[in-house]
Amino acid sequence: MKKILIIGSGAAGIAAAEAARERDTDCSVTVISQETELPYNRPMLTKNLCDSAIEAAKIAIHPANWYQDHRINLIQGKKITALLPDKSAVADSEGTQYEYDSLILALGASCFVPPIAGSDSAGVHTIRKIADVKLIQEQIAGKSNAAVIGGGVLGLEAAASLSKAGLKVTVLEAMPRLMPRQLDEEAAENLMQIAAEKGVLILTGQKITTIEPGRVITETGTYSADTVIISAGVRANIQLAKEAGIVCDRAIVINDKAETNLPHIYACGDCAQLNGVNYALWSQALAEGTAAGNNAAGGEESFRLGSPSLTFFGLGTTLCAAGDNSSNPDAEYTSIDANDNTGRAFRRITGKDDHICGFEMIGTLKGMKELQEALGKHVMISEAEQLLKDIPVR
Ligand SMILES: Cc1cc2nc3c(=O)[nH]c(=O)nc-3n(C[C@H](O)[C@H](O)[C@H](O)COP(=O)(O)OP(=O)(O)OC[C@H]3O[C@@H](n4cnc5c(N)ncnc54)[C@H](O)[C@@H]3O)c2cc1C
Repeated sequence: MKKILIIGSGAAGIAAAEAARERDTDCSVTVISQETELPYNRPMLTKNLCDSAIEAAKIAIHPANWYQDHRINLIQGKKITALLPDKSAVADSEGTQYEYDSLILALGASCFVPPIAGSDSAGVHTIRKIADVKLIQEQIAGKSNAAVIGGGVLGLEAAASLSKAGLKVTVLEAMPRLMPRQLDEEAAENLMQIAAEKGVLILTGQKITTIEPGRVITETGTYSADTVIISAGVRANIQLAKEAGIVCDRAIVINDKAETNLPHIYACGDCAQLNGVNYALWSQALAEGTAAGNNAAGGEESFRLGSPSLTFFGLGTTLCAAGDNSSNPDAEYTSIDANDNTGRAFRRITGKDDHICGFEMIGTLKGMKELQEALGKHVMISEAEQLLKDIPVR
């Protein structure tokens, strides 16, 4: 019986386990993770940051009995500390070895903490695990203000949750504008205005110098913050792979079959990159995990990553952006805009060389699916406009 061993029980690891079981009903599938909770939906953490009832079972990827029903052996609370490819085994921190015929690395990523003085003090947090959320909830109890360092989607989701829980929130973003890779200037401006109306102050171009108890100090000001959340991106967990001689760049390098350079070792999700790209998104984790599981069980599946979309729900609005929204100052872009009559909903299609190259929508998600498809097919901008003709902005 073929032994498939998966390290990591996030979206990628569980998708891999499911695909392996589907492909080969006889193989053994073991998932080892250092986390102790039932595998859960990580994106829910920022969206429910202040929900005191949040627990893994409520946001679980699958209910507990799913693992038994699919004969997936879930080993929790074990940290793998070494890969031993010469022995086709891995070892945990207690020295126990686990053998495999195929190994899948689904190790995820860790939050990046910029080297800011005071970033390691109590009251400063990142959000990656359910335990982080529980700690933040304990610390904000009875407090009145918070700062979020980083104005990306996760930072804004955290800010929206904290604001909803009654805290005065300041978001400090280092870049001159919000999400410059995903949003054009006008959309970024709109989002800042919406946030301000909801009581969340977003300040861009902020260089943080120090975090002190109760405040964050930047080059231009001082902001009260009993609690500080750092949301400054992630770094792929590659140490184990590197030590074992697996080729890594910023993440573990894989091909479109999720194979690494070592035979019978696959990688997927936030710890992996294909063609130099590591989106660190849920959809990427699922696509790569499914291919890794299928191929580890004897399949020949190639995967393709679609155009990633950025979505945000919070502050009383919605946002979706995908593709290139005028990010290159040297390129010539065209745009087709549509607003609803309240001015609260906005949709823009961006074109380059007569073809759609991106889109943004704020306050509405109507036509999102159509635009995602149009972008995937890189249709003429006039064709994209036609697609939306009968879909009202809101
Ligand atoms: C708060 C938050 C909100 C997000 N929101 C969105 C969103 O709205 N949309 C979106 O597309 N994406 C979002 N993401 C990103 C998305 O959650 C990730 O892309 C996805 O979860 C990656 O899954 P993964 O399985 O690759 O990694 P992970 O979910 O990180 O799983 C990796 C697992 O491996 C375990 N592990 C690592 N090393 C070891 C070891 N040595 N031994 C044993 N176990 C180990 C880890 O503990 C973890 O359980 C969000 C992420 C976060 C943190």
